[in-house]
Amino acid sequence: MSCKRLIVKILIAGAVLWYALCLPSDLFKGEKYSTVVNDRSGRLLGARTSDDGQWRFAPTDQVPEKYKTALIEFEDRWFYLHPGVNPAAIARAAVQNIRSGHISSGGSTITMQVVRMSRGKDRTIREKIIESILATRLELRHRKRKILAMYASHAPFGGNVVGLRAASWRYFGREPDELSWGEAATLAILPNSPSSMHPGRKRTELLEKRNRLLSRLRERGKITGEEYELACQEPIPEAPQALPSYTPHLVDRYAKVRHGETVTTTIDLDLQTRVAQLTDSWSGELSLQGINDLAAVVIDVHTGEILSYVGNADQGRKRPGAQVDILRSPRSTGSILKPLLYCALLQDGKMLPHTLLPDIPVSIGGFSPQNFDMQFAGAVSASEALARSLNVPAVHMLRMYGIQRFCRLLKECGLTTVNRSADDYGLSLILGGAEGTLLDITRAYARMSESTVKAPADFPLNDKTALWWTVDALKEVNRPDEIDWHMISSVKKVAWKTGTSWGFRDGWAVGITPDYAVGVWAGNAGGQGVPGLTGARTAGPVLFEIFNLLPDKSWFTEPQYGEYITAEVCRESGHLAGPYCQNIDNLMLPKTAASSDPCPYHRMVDGESRFILPPAMEWFYRQHHPEYRPLAKSIPGTDFVPMEFIYPEPGTTIFIPRQLDGSIKGATFSLAHRNQKATVYWHLDENYLGETRYIHQMAVNAEPGPHTVTVVDSDGNTLSIGFTVGK
Ligand SMILES: [Zn+2]
Repeated sequence: MSCKRLIVKILIAGAVLWYALCLPSDLFKGEKYSTVVNDRSGRLLGARTSDDGQWRFAPTDQVPEKYKTALIEFEDRWFYLHPGVNPAAIARAAVQNIRSGHISSGGSTITMQVVRMSRGKDRTIREKIIESILATRLELRHRKRKILAMYASHAPFGGNVVGLRAASWRYFGREPDELSWGEAATLAILPNSPSSMHPGRKRTELLEKRNRLLSRLRERGKITGEEYELACQEPIPEAPQALPSYTPHLVDRYAKVRHGETVTTTIDLDLQTRVAQLTDSWSGELSLQGINDLAAVVIDVHTGEILSYVGNADQGRKRPGAQVDILRSPRSTGSILKPLLYCALLQDGKMLPHTLLPDIPVSIGGFSPQNFDMQFAGAVSASEALARSLNVPAVHMLRMYGIQRFCRLLKECGLTTVNRSADDYGLSLILGGAEGTLLDITRAYARMSESTVKAPADFPLNDKTALWWTVDALKEVNRPDEIDWHMISSVKKVAWKTGTSWGFRDGWAVGITPDYAVGVWAGNAGGQGVPGLTGARTAGPVLFEIFNLLPDKSWFTEPQYGEYITAEVCRESGHLAGPYCQNIDNLMLPKTAASSDPCPYHRMVDGESRFILPPAMEWFYRQHHPEYRPLAKSIPGTDFVPMEFIYPEPGTTIFIPRQLDGSIKGATFSLAHRNQKATVYWHLDENYLGETRYIHQMAVNAEPGPHTVTVVDSDGNTLSIGFTVGK
């Protein structure tokens, strides 16, 4: 007797233990989900199917009211009252099945259906019993609300559509909480007969079923008579719709880096839609000129968040590069990095905002930068050089700053694609020699803007006065004449820079206000150049139209007291004023500027203050400045030279070019002389080469190795230059 009892006890204990442990802790463990990308307020931007090809969005706890009401009415009226199984429903189903001779009704509760979805087994009596037991167990573990949410997230809706949110988008193109009564009722019915959405006879059945459900809802007072009438008139959707695709490239990216997750981004769907409309329309227009791809990004300066992401506009227009996410593609940077260099030099105190820089031909290691207009101004202020994007002064700036240091600075500014050595880049680094992505570059500009307000510790450009002058120069950036700027409604005040890469392959425009940074790129994803593809002409107008979509806010404020020094600056040279400078401005400067060099160009000549540039700068400068008065003669007893070599630079290695026919013509040396009437006599090492007047150019041909060219003018002034001829 006692033995029997023990056995019974053990059996009961075993049963209780089995019951306690019978339900897996995660019913849907190992389920594969779609990659779903939402905007900052949870609105769907796009999605990609799961690994098993399903539109199965990650589960949520949200079940909207209309759907919930319709579902409970249709599937399980006593859902809130039963403990997971409903014996009355099972009995009713059994009677029905016996009468009809086949299984037409399951009598399953919503809870039992959740268990079945998680187990994916065939419908057998045995399985049904297991489902019933597990359902009661599930009820013990979770609240009704949670069980409903599990159902809504995992119910099959026909084809490869799983879960309410995916179904709602696929069949009705909207979020579940925006469904009408007719739509909610349709989706309440679908999991029960998932194939009935397909065209054919079953659609009529579906419509009838839906209307019967709506009628029941009205009878029970869940919907009004008017709601019922309206809902019955709604058609059943024809076919599944494509999901929204507001940011296809961003969604593609998340499908790689956060595969199968639901990602909430910082994108603002309203702004995204408007920016995309605008870029689509511009892209269509640019494509007529053979410029097929266009990308744009909007960043919130204060948070660094990306508000709008157009990886490549106008996806509707089929072309080879449409899939390329330009925002993350490394492209030749053109002139777009110049503001960073300008700001860094001001921050160093090595250069002042308007310091006069040489704009004369230079050749460094076989590299001869040209300005875009192929002209040389002789000398130009740093701020103007930046605004006009002159290349030769930029090369001087990079020399002043140091290539290696600038590489480091670019990396610290977040340019992830600057990873070659400084030697490899050389001075062309500042003229597009480096590659950058539109996203990295726009972020760097955004941080410059942020830095004007608060100096982030991890951003290298943080001197507010240097930043203020940089922004000031960038608001002067020339707007090309051929654009009808009046067409672009109310052109805003924006600090901006354009860039055009070698061969007209990349057109850049990046701009900032204190609140937003906008970056635009135009070109061909495949890299084909297009004559006339310049940043100012292609990307510039798009940039301004995007700024017009953004709220109008403040402009940059001047640095605060204590963040700058005030110093006397020579108006002509931009240097700190020297004793002979005449026009002096009091400027706000970075504190580091206190130790910079005074004006080297104003000198006392015959008791008079004169502005005298070095000969090479002077030679080009006077062509643009008729008011410039060159010296008639050299000043005895000073370091003032009457002549200067323009090419080559002293101490450099030159290469003697070969003509097309194989003959050697020699390298053309050129010299500037202050006195336009001077005659210059040229010598290579010990040998006389010839004489020049007015334009001093001489072909020099020498064996590989070190040499010296010496020039003597008619007044007896002598100048020598050492150089090496490379092999
Ligand atoms: Zn001066």
